[in-house]
Amino acid sequence: ERDRARAEAAGSVVHAEGRQVLVAANVGSLAEARAAVAAGADGVGLLRTELLYVDRPALPDEDEQTAELGAILEVLGDRPVVVRTLDVGGDKMLPALDLDPWRNGPLGVRGLRYGLAHPGVLRTQLRAILRAAGEQGAHVWVMAPMVTVAEEARQFRELLADVVAELDRQGTVHAPPAKVGVMLEVPAAALAPQDICAEVDFVSVGSNDLLQYVMAADRANDAVGYLYQPEHPALWRVLDLLVGTARAAGCHVAVCGEIAGDPEAAVRLVRLGVDELSMAPSSLPAVKAALREAYGSVS
Ligand code: PEP
Ligand code: MG
Repeated sequence: ERDRARAEAAGSVVHAEGRQVLVAANVGSLAEARAAVAAGADGVGLLRTELLYVDRPALPDEDEQTAELGAILEVLGDRPVVVRTLDVGGDKMLPALDLDPWRNGPLGVRGLRYGLAHPGVLRTQLRAILRAAGEQGAHVWVMAPMVTVAEEARQFRELLADVVAELDRQGTVHAPPAKVGVMLEVPAAALAPQDICAEVDFVSVGSNDLLQYVMAADRANDAVGYLYQPEHPALWRVLDLLVGTARAAGCHVAVCGEIAGDPEAAVRLVRLGVDELSMAPSSLPAVKAALREAYGSVS
C-alpha cells in the first residue's frame, strides 16, 4: 500500500486552480533528502541548514559547510532546492553560538536578525551555499528566516549580491541563486507583505512561527499548547490576506510550516492561491492524493 502510494506520488505534477502546484519536502539532513526523493518530492521547499550544526561545539568552516550542503544537493539532483540561511534563536539554540535564551528568544535576535548582527557568520554560510550550488550544478533558491520589515530583506539581498561579486572576483566555482526569498512568519510581515515582496522573488510562509506569534503561545511550551490551534480563524485570515497581497505583488508564494503537510489544510491553502507546499517527506503521498482528489487534474 505504502509503496503504491509512493509510486503514485513520484513524478506526477499537481495542477489546481489553473496553475501548477509544487509539492515539495522539508529537509534537514542527508537522510531526509533521500527520503524526499523516495517520496516523490518535486523539490525541497525548506532546507533547514541549522540542523546540520546542532550538536557541535563550533560552527563548521566554509569548506566543511560547502561539502555538507553539496552532499545533500547531489542527492536532490536537478530538483529546485530552497536553502534557508541559519535560523538560530527562539526554539533553535545552537551550542556553537553561545546564545542567550532572553536576548535570542522568540521575540529577540533570531533568524535573519542574528545573521545581520553577525554578518561574518551569514557571509560564510552564503559563500558555502553558492559554492555547493556551483559544484553540483544545482537549482538553488536562497531564503532568509524571520524577516519583519522590507529593510531587512533589502540588506539580505545586498549581502548576497556582495558575496556573488566576491566569488566572481576570486574565480571560485559557484552559482548565483536562481531566486531570492524570505520567510513570512512574523505577523507584521504577513499582514503587510507588499514592501517585502518588492525586494524578493518569492516568499514562504512559516506557519509554525506565524501561529506562535498570532496566538502569543510559545511553540515550545506545553503549558500553552492548547492555544496552538492551526485551524484558528485568526491564522487563516492572515493567510488569506498574505497570499492575495504577495501574489498581486508578483511573488511566488509557498507554505513550508506544518500545516502544509495536513491534507485538508493543503487543499485550502491551494484554494487561497498558494503556488507551493513544502512538508515532511512522510506527508507527501497523502497531500498529493488529497490535492488530486480535490482538483482532479494531474499530468
Ligand atoms: C515555520 O516556522 O513554520 C518553519 C517552517 O520553520 P521552523 O519550524 O524551522 O521555524
Ligand atoms: Mg520558523
